[in-house]
Amino acid sequence: MSDITLGIIGGGQLGSLLSVAANKIDINTVIFSDDKNSPAKNFTKNFISGNYDDEKLIKEFLSKVNVITYEFENIPYKILKKLNEIKPVLPKPEINKLIQNRYTEKDFLNKNNIRTTRYSLIKDEDDIKINDGLIPGLLKTCTLGYDGKGQFKIDKKENISSEIDFTKEYILEKFIKLKKEISVIITRFGHQRYEIYEPIENLHEDQILKHSKIPAQISEKIKNQATNWATIIAEELDYVGTLCVEYFIDNKDNLYANEIAPRVHNSGHLTINSHNVSQFENHIRAVCGLEKVETKKIYNARMLNLIGNDIEDYRVKSFKDNEFFFDYQKTEIREKRKMGHFTIIEKEN
Ligand code: ADP
Ligand code: MG
Repeated sequence: MSDITLGIIGGGQLGSLLSVAANKIDINTVIFSDDKNSPAKNFTKNFISGNYDDEKLIKEFLSKVNVITYEFENIPYKILKKLNEIKPVLPKPEINKLIQNRYTEKDFLNKNNIRTTRYSLIKDEDDIKINDGLIPGLLKTCTLGYDGKGQFKIDKKENISSEIDFTKEYILEKFIKLKKEISVIITRFGHQRYEIYEPIENLHEDQILKHSKIPAQISEKIKNQATNWATIIAEELDYVGTLCVEYFIDNKDNLYANEIAPRVHNSGHLTINSHNVSQFENHIRAVCGLEKVETKKIYNARMLNLIGNDIEDYRVKSFKDNEFFFDYQKTEIREKRKMGHFTIIEKEN
């Protein structure tokens, strides 16, 4: 083992897969999760569980690690900032703060001349009525949403669901007729030093990612624009680590940046099997200050997310040598919960 220990905040599948990738290149991990049953405890030798603001646990965590990263964006800024005063937190807490709020995130994109859907900040019902140019639209909570949670379709300004809790802030986003969704994953190591993966094509069901594949079937123009924008975003943020930009393509072949994930991303799971260096390993290399390895695609690939009961068949199935099954070992199967994934690489015979 090397003498670097990486602290990871969050114990879901992303934390688990980061830990596996770290161990592969001789980096130790300590995972800190607020859920004592989180799956990542099966994938690290050092697991700490309890509230993220528990002073005693924070001290223990800090004493064990050299550098800290996180697997999800919904961590309060003040916790990351406090940790960062003692040990480096990467990506920087300020970046997470900007991106964890959909409104400041979209403003950042537009300031950098990156197209997004049209949107407006919504604080009450009247704000929706004033912005009827954005209807049909999607109302999304500014913070804490994921996998379509915290979103409401608004078809008519007269039909505003009584379930909407206006103690929270929202953005209303114009609904786009999607032709396709793609994502670009980039790992930045420092000024103009990065590894970028080709665009990945994604299919969502019920607003949850279901299928991803490379190559994405898109024009050269879209491919270049999507990779350029991801590079601009990473440079502008002075980012260190792996990030993902999710994009929409509409019927007229316009590209829109949907959101930035300041972390490894579900659509990049296929890079474990398709590339010489996965998105997880690249993230670890960047945040731990290790050597940057030229990242190359070896195989085209497709990934299927196993959601809820989907996992059961896969747990008993046998696989060919180009098929890879990942079980996140979550204690309970729940509807709409990501339980595992399955990747097929295209090997030529
Ligand atoms: P989450 O944080 O839940 O991933 P997203 O904003 O990425 O939130 O929305 C989830 C999915 O919902 C998207 O991948 C897309 O399929 C659909 N969606 C979101 N916003 C729009 C929009 N403005 N127009 C059309 N579809 C959308
Ligand atoms: Mg999304």
